[in-house]
Amino acid sequence: MSACTHDHAHPTVDVAAALAHAEALCGALGHRWTEPRRRVLELLVESGEPVKAYDLMAAYGEEGAKPATVYRALEFLEKVGLVHRIVSLSAFQACIGHDGAHGAAFLICDCCGSAEEFEAAAGDQVSQAAQAHGFGVERVMVEVHGRCKACAA
Ligand SMILES: [Zn+2]
Ligand SMILES: [Zn+2]
Repeated sequence: MSACTHDHAHPTVDVAAALAHAEALCGALGHRWTEPRRRVLELLVESGEPVKAYDLMAAYGEEGAKPATVYRALEFLEKVGLVHRIVSLSAFQACIGHDGAHGAAFLICDCCGSAEEFEAAAGDQVSQAAQAHGFGVERVMVEVHGRCKACAA
């Protein structure tokens, strides 16, 4: 996916468990767990990296998927907090372990293309400052660019 030759050990993710968790969350919120939603999340969980919508369409199945199918699934998954859109990469990354919509901060490696979600109080500070301006905050995304530990070493 990237030209960098650094060695990256991705944490192994239990895809089946992640999907079961997502389906349960979806049911608890009263949403239908449709095949496109399941398949798009599966591709993102398997990748473990930010993936562009175009690549999701291509990887979807033997015949690929219609753009609208993938975009609708992504929109839904993002709304319920199972996927984050990383704006500066025009890509999407799965997020398992938070229940419900949440702001996120990402450490984005410009060398290998990995993105690691991390807890950052900065998001809360931005949110509070925006609210002090009378702004109705929907979500705050923090995208930090640089080099990951493996690439910086
Ligand atoms: Zn998240
Ligand atoms: Zn890296």
